[in-house]
Amino acid sequence: KMNTDLGQHLLKNPGVAQAIVDKAGLKQSDVVLEVGPGTGNLTVKILEKARQVHAVEMDPRMAAELTKRVQGTPMEKKLSILLGDVIKTELPYFDVCISNTPYQISSPLVFKLLALNPMPRCCVLMFQREFAMRLVARPGDPLYCRLSVNAQMWARCTHILKVGKNNFKPPPKVESSVVRIEPKNPRPPVSYEEWDGLLRIVFVRGNRTIKAGFSSKAVMEIVERNYRTWCATNDVAIEEEMTDVVAMDEDEGEIEEMEVDDDLGGTEKIKVKVGRKKGKVTELVKSKVDKVLEETEMGEKRAVKCEEGDFLKLLYAFNKEGIHFS
Ligand code: SAM
Repeated sequence: KMNTDLGQHLLKNPGVAQAIVDKAGLKQSDVVLEVGPGTGNLTVKILEKARQVHAVEMDPRMAAELTKRVQGTPMEKKLSILLGDVIKTELPYFDVCISNTPYQISSPLVFKLLALNPMPRCCVLMFQREFAMRLVARPGDPLYCRLSVNAQMWARCTHILKVGKNNFKPPPKVESSVVRIEPKNPRPPVSYEEWDGLLRIVFVRGNRTIKAGFSSKAVMEIVERNYRTWCATNDVAIEEEMTDVVAMDEDEGEIEEMEVDDDLGGTEKIKVKVGRKKGKVTELVKSKVDKVLEETEMGEKRAVKCEEGDFLKLLYAFNKEGIHFS
């Protein structure tokens, strides 16, 4: 009995299984990672072509089936089964990844693979059709989104095969597609967190202008907080007067004790509300953001129409002003 919570839809069409393995362009010397081998429909075909296979499987019953399938064959020595959740498993070295992916881990799996160092040469992965189309979508396509830009920053993503639901047992609810992901080598010298952080902002409502995205109070609060952190860690003094008084909004500032001259020529302690002079840094950050959007001419553009180069230009310009997104 299949556990569909674990995305157990076995590939019953051997032609499709063979096509997936062929598209991976395996060499005899390759070490392959397979995610979710199930009963081994893909695994045995990979074993024919590769030096070694590490198969990460979460369901012990499936792992037992697979063990039985290769037992006593020459394939047995080439296969190691790692029992566990691939997302939480520390992965061994591999050259190529092949997966009929359990769909609920599509996104974390892709980003785990793209974050690896060294990066695999190539990944051939089966996904839900829509997820696959998002991965390969280009600027202006209806499915172009943060996932597209994020994945395509680190890898070349190509759609290689449509797979109907009846090729699986039991059939899933949706159609599937196989995608090839070839990580760029060398890796672009950009911080993943910064890149993703910027994309999160501009794709909140990706069909609005980028300027509109940065006009949100919540976004500007994050940008300002990051700016303060950056200044602190880079020893940049931020021009900011601490006021000893007091004319502040009610919810701002802190009560502190302060020494003042008293009427008798001594000093006394009084309680005052001190805090940042309202708005100074906020205004500085806002003017930096405006400047960047203007100079890059990105303010009026919409994320859904922008390409990687546009976002890179934007990120570099922000970074130059000390504005960071992670
Ligand atoms: N590769 C087999 C095939 O094509 O016939 C099975 C594919 S089935 C779509 C997904 C497999 O991944 C299942 O065997 C399931 O138990 C396993 N699985 C689900 N979640 C997993 C996870 N987080 N880590 C590793 N394996 C997982």
